[in-house]
Amino acid sequence: MNRTGSGAGSRQHDDDRWLNQAVALATANVAEGGGPFGAVIVRDGVVIGTGQNRVTRDNDPTAHAEVVAIRAACNALDDFSLAGATLYASCEPCPLCLAACLWSRLERVVYAADRDDARRAGFDDSRFYDLLATDRAAWPMPVVANRIATTSDPIDAWLARPTKVEY
Ligand SMILES: [Zn+2]
Repeated sequence: MNRTGSGAGSRQHDDDRWLNQAVALATANVAEGGGPFGAVIVRDGVVIGTGQNRVTRDNDPTAHAEVVAIRAACNALDDFSLAGATLYASCEPCPLCLAACLWSRLERVVYAADRDDARRAGFDDSRFYDLLATDRAAWPMPVVANRIATTSDPIDAWLARPTKVEY
């Protein structure tokens, strides 16, 4: 993508600026009793959503900073796609958040701390990454396929529907 005045040096400068904001959100969240994670989503040089980890405050294990920021940005845009946007995270997105970034069609993801830093703080990111790379048969949480009689009904209904919002 070619934007006026956005050479490599400029992009690096912008990345540092937005990462600083994500990190500041993360640090502030700790002071407010939340987890040490923050995220900022930027498109065309404008912040369209921010997030802080809200897992313990909302009793929501999926309320990671990146997911909260994606929800905020999609709400603000009234759109389920964040194509063309960049997500800046204070820490490397966990597998949940990485999948959420893919689903939201983000253009780029930039992070500061990594999964080893998260592990140092007692978070499972690194363990989950390792688990995803191993055979599911060895998982402590069984994931079981069981094809029942109506298994294909939803997909068949979707395929047969003439008008649908594809994503
Ligand atoms: Zn996450």
